[in-house]
Amino acid sequence: MAGSCAGSSRESAMMTSELVAIDERRLLRRLDDLAQRGALPSGGLYRALYTPAHVAATELYADWCKEAGLLVRRDAVGNVWGRVEGSRGGRAIVTGSHIDTVRGGGALDGALGVVAGLEAVASLVAQFGRPTRILECVAICEEEGSRFSTNFWGARAIADRLEPDEAQRARDADGITLADAMRGVGLDPARASQAVRRDIDNFVELHIEQGPILDESNERLGVVRTIAGTAHLEVTVRGQADHAGAAAMERRRDALLGAAAMTLAIAKVATDMGPPAVATVGTIGVEPAQVNVVPGLARFTVDARHSSAALRLELIAEIAKACKVIGRERELAVDVRTLRDRPPVQLHERTTDALRRAARAAGVEPREMVSGAGHDSQILSAAAHAAMLFVPSIGGRSHRADEATAAEDVVLGTRVLATALRDLAYAA
Ligand SMILES: [Zn+2]
Repeated sequence: MAGSCAGSSRESAMMTSELVAIDERRLLRRLDDLAQRGALPSGGLYRALYTPAHVAATELYADWCKEAGLLVRRDAVGNVWGRVEGSRGGRAIVTGSHIDTVRGGGALDGALGVVAGLEAVASLVAQFGRPTRILECVAICEEEGSRFSTNFWGARAIADRLEPDEAQRARDADGITLADAMRGVGLDPARASQAVRRDIDNFVELHIEQGPILDESNERLGVVRTIAGTAHLEVTVRGQADHAGAAAMERRRDALLGAAAMTLAIAKVATDMGPPAVATVGTIGVEPAQVNVVPGLARFTVDARHSSAALRLELIAEIAKACKVIGRERELAVDVRTLRDRPPVQLHERTTDALRRAARAAGVEPREMVSGAGHDSQILSAAAHAAMLFVPSIGGRSHRADEATAAEDVVLGTRVLATALRDLAYAA
């Protein structure tokens, strides 16, 4: 099963007849099939936006939508939608997730919500016919930021959150602009704004947890109340470049030693604040970067997250303060710049209730959760009433080749998703 789903599918004894049935074998097979698109010889997969593997995955998804009798269309940025009209029209009920992956990622991050969303909609239409509300599934083209210097491209296009000329400015590691990559797959960057949707009522996303909480507590489902806010900071430390042989240790103003002390201090700030505060120094560079020169400049990035809006700001302020204090002690100039700032997002309570009811129909009381990871739902909550369902990640592993969820949890999550969608889209 491409390492995606461990164990065998089994029916939970507690399931009631209220829970929507799905084609379990087809669901698991399609997850495996999708994982072949972008599979790396070295293990894991890489489906980066607008690459051949990405196109192949979206075409496969479009074929499955057609097979289910859905109306299929690719929007102006390459999100693929499957749709069934509702007998009463109105605003749409939508489910889905992102179809791109990180480099060396697993078979479920994003892909689970993409395939499960399609299977849920297909099962509902097959069993209950036309819904009262417009019902759609979507494969969102990009979320991870793994190719271009941007992320949440697909969801931001839907939510009217693209920046002017962003497609011209964002580049990949080879210098190819996002705009050129769009043209390469037959999309016109000038029309990106046509992907905006103002007619979505609810967006419901199934996703793997990507952390260990459900797995360690032996719980099978979680509903997300809050998605943590993220700040990306860039810290530049300036000292004095010096001769590695001639400059005595006590005379040096070594920028890298300062940055190293700051890295430890930043981890301590987040640790002292306690969960769910997290802070990560993920990249660092020095100048002039020579073996025999004391670094005169060090520049590093900080990713800081918290689910509380107030505590997130406090975390950022404490990090900046810790860096400045160390800078003063070591006679280093410190500049802290904000690269990206996304506040925490509360998901929609009444839409989440539909997921809670569906979980209870399966005999499961879902855990109320905070997501430390970012998700399409946090962007789409600006354009729709968004809710998220989590299934366990075995060992909390994600963004790696051995990312896995038990097959029975994949099936359970999909059935609960389908049941919540029935609640939303088939109401009288
Ligand atoms: Zn994801």
